[in-house]
Amino acid sequence: MKLEHIGIAVADIESTKNLLKAIFGAEPYKQEVVASEGVITHFYDAGGVKIELLEATSTDSAISKFILKHGQGLHHLAFSVDHVSTDFERIKGLGIQVLGEAPKQGADGKWIFFAHPRDTSGVLMEFCSEQK
Ligand code: ZN
Repeated sequence: MKLEHIGIAVADIESTKNLLKAIFGAEPYKQEVVASEGVITHFYDAGGVKIELLEATSTDSAISKFILKHGQGLHHLAFSVDHVSTDFERIKGLGIQVLGEAPKQGADGKWIFFAHPRDTSGVLMEFCSEQK
């Protein structure tokens, strides 16, 4: 299992993009609308680890709710696994609450699921793989 990306919830995408450009000279290499999640993702390459900026597209998206509750900032850590369905069952079997009934289609052509931060030391964890 390896760190695949770091998700950051942003309230003002343009100012965050300008900040990353000023600090790192970086531009997003990919932007993608994930309609089912109510977000636009903006991916950066940070030396092999991706940074995923999460911009809400509506007030009832999970990212809008997160920002209302916590402010913008670190949202989740994502780990790549071989088969997300296998790890969905394995992690559930450890007594950790997983979100949803099954892995779902996420950004970047990946199948994903999340584990509830209440059961993972306060850090929202995403697990993802190319194959379901
Ligand atoms: Zn993510």
